[in-house]
Amino acid sequence: MDKILIIEDSRAQAEYLKSILTADYEVTICLTGEEGFRKAKGEAFSLIFLDIILPDVDGFTLLRRFQDTALTRRTPVILVSGLSDVQHEEKGLTLGAVDYITKPFSPITVRARANIHIKLHHYQMQFMQMATVDQLTGVANRRRYEDESILKWREATRLKLFLSVCMFDIDKFKVYNDTFGHPAGDKVIAAVARTASAFLQRSTDFFGRYGGEEFVAILIGNEARAAFDFLKSIRQAVEDLHIPHAPSVSPWVTISIGGVTLLPKDGDSYEYYLEIADNMLYKAKHSGRNMVVWSDSGREEWLEEGREKQLHSPAVQA
Ligand code: GH3
Ligand code: MG
Ligand code: MG
Ligand code: MG
Repeated sequence: MDKILIIEDSRAQAEYLKSILTADYEVTICLTGEEGFRKAKGEAFSLIFLDIILPDVDGFTLLRRFQDTALTRRTPVILVSGLSDVQHEEKGLTLGAVDYITKPFSPITVRARANIHIKLHHYQMQFMQMATVDQLTGVANRRRYEDESILKWREATRLKLFLSVCMFDIDKFKVYNDTFGHPAGDKVIAAVARTASAFLQRSTDFFGRYGGEEFVAILIGNEARAAFDFLKSIRQAVEDLHIPHAPSVSPWVTISIGGVTLLPKDGDSYEYYLEIADNMLYKAKHSGRNMVVWSDSGREEWLEEGREKQLHSPAVQA
């Protein structure tokens, strides 16, 4: 059952609204703006009825806060007010409310509007899901990656945090397909995605399918060494799935990972670092596969060989 949140300081009004909707929806009432905001941030509602005049914070301010908050950004908000003032309606709709109802309201109209906005919300969520999720693996698709990489880059630059970019590629996967068939290959791609994404569950992490048997991850806040160690555990987890590979290749399906950690500055380009990650992946492939190769943004590189060894130090590179 869809959930509706009513934020309204008059208990009588809130209860009346609830009585209109309660047959079809699970309805929660909050009597202050702050309580309403906390509630809306904490669980997913399909629709919010928001009173404009509240004792603590006005409905317009709350509307802006909903739009700045990930979980509420796409939740439709219907403004409720006793003010039949056209300016309020204009302001509310301009700020992103989907609709506006004026007290006293007719139960039939309220129910009809709730139904249509919840239906549209479902369509929008379904569309978003199809447009941004890779169908085979269920992880973010390439389109979503293109958007997220820009956001992560901006976030790390603004907050002056370490950013890590890494590319994953399944080893000798063409041979796998040739040996076991394409449908079996698809299952391996899905298993690798599941395994890697289980490690990358922080709200600051991104993991997506870059294309084919390649994946991309973006981490925020880890220093180079920590990111390198973390990615080694992901590489190991894939090996530990013990998915048999073609006997001519290796006992199990494995992945190679190339990555870079940097402190982004204004004027830097994300693409430049993606290219470094790609170069590290190339090195992993040419150093035997099933390994992580990491760059400390051009100063140091680490290559994992069961136990890692330093490829070259700043002195050698200079
Ligand atoms: P390397 O270790 O150098 O990465 O070798 P590789 O064979 O994995 O590299 P290459 O890039 O030559 O081949 C990638 C293969 O991945 C080619 C293609 O058959 C397979 N592949 C790409 N996308 C899919 C997919 O969606 N499903 C399946 N089953 N296979 C795919
Ligand atoms: Mg009020
Ligand atoms: Mg490849
Ligand atoms: Mg490959």
